[in-house]
Amino acid sequence: MIMVALLALLLGWATGHVLLFLFLATFGYLVWHLYNLSRLQRWLRQAELSSLPVSRGAWGTAFDGIYRLREGSLRRRKRLNRLLKRFYKLAAALPDATVMLGEHDIIEWYNKPAQKLLGLQPSADVGQYIGNLLRHPAFRAYLDENDSDEPIEIPSPEDESTILSVHLVSYGKNRRLLIARDITRLHRLEQMRRDFVADVSHELRTPLTVIAGYLESMADGADELPADWQRSIVLMEQQTCRMQHIVTDLLFLSRMENSVQPVGADEVDVSALLTAIREDALTLSGESRHAISLDADPDLLIKGNYEELRSVFSNLVFNAVQYTPAGGKIEIRWHRTDDHGARFEVKDHGQGIAAHHIPRLTERFYRIDVGRSREKGGTGLGLAIVKHVMNRYQGHLEIDSEVGKGSLFRCCFPAAVLVSRASRTLKAGS
Ligand code: ADP
Repeated sequence: MIMVALLALLLGWATGHVLLFLFLATFGYLVWHLYNLSRLQRWLRQAELSSLPVSRGAWGTAFDGIYRLREGSLRRRKRLNRLLKRFYKLAAALPDATVMLGEHDIIEWYNKPAQKLLGLQPSADVGQYIGNLLRHPAFRAYLDENDSDEPIEIPSPEDESTILSVHLVSYGKNRRLLIARDITRLHRLEQMRRDFVADVSHELRTPLTVIAGYLESMADGADELPADWQRSIVLMEQQTCRMQHIVTDLLFLSRMENSVQPVGADEVDVSALLTAIREDALTLSGESRHAISLDADPDLLIKGNYEELRSVFSNLVFNAVQYTPAGGKIEIRWHRTDDHGARFEVKDHGQGIAAHHIPRLTERFYRIDVGRSREKGGTGLGLAIVKHVMNRYQGHLEIDSEVGKGSLFRCCFPAAVLVSRASRTLKAGS
């Protein structure tokens, strides 16, 4: 620009028309800029990267820079496109139903198995709210839950006999991936296992009752039998009694597992129930003279089934008695929590449980010391029963323990199953 201005000044001075030459130089410079600008616009409008317009000076440098930037961005775009295509191919090839959900759980994309398992129409259901297409109440509740770590099991909307395991995974801001898998075979096997255990337990009940009856009559007249026989009869009675307990516990567990009915509607007076259980625990403790304290909120009742709740509370309290040395302290508490729920807690100062055993304690027949459990008359099913009953009440069992210090078993009940005695009296009064 300086060179052009100097040339215009020189020519203007030589011809005596300085202003005219300066004007012509500025006009020419402006035209050159406009020309280069329009070339740049035309070039940018092309989708493909064509050869660079040739130019000198400032425009040459600008063209060079812009070309390099565009070249880089086009290369990145192509790479991303390739990656996206590969991802779609991979997701389409997955054997499980996969649905991409955008904001407000609107369907953005799904693969072929999703059409078959979830009954989605080929591409027509994109843009729909998933809750309008999968209407099972358990799925709607799961969808609203937001933070769901565990999958749920629901029947397929296409075929009621197909059971699906549905899992929602969050993967971005307000985005979720729905993965559904056909678990009908697994479900049938699980049902067969439950039925088998229930049937065997049921079949064993009658012969055991007969054997126990005969043993009782034999024990009544045992004075006339030789000492060896007397001992054998006592041992046989003990083992029969143990087997009867196992069968009763197995049948109770099967009922819990197979029951689709909601929990009962009794209003269980937990405080009174715990007072009775404490008395039984003191009897069980006998000579061991454990110090068993009870602190229960008398206002707090549970809407449910008396037998199920008695089984939960007594299993935990009797375990504390059995696994705490003589004279040890056992604390039982029943109280409200800040989240409007309630907790039943049993704290003992017994032998405690090593951390690696804790996750497995609620498995059937899992015992830390099998010999000791048998000697105490345990069936190894108590905590499995507690876990199943708690699931039925939408609650859960928590276990804190330290070897040598003792254990704390905590049953957390949600507000939905609780009733306040005071509010019930108020309602009755009004
Ligand atoms: P069991 O009939 O053997 O007591 P449970 O299912 O009630 O069966 O308990 C499983 C195992 O957990 C027990 O065998 C015992 O090893 C352990 N356990 C349960 N409660 C306690 C406790 N309060 N302190 C120490 N160990 C316990």
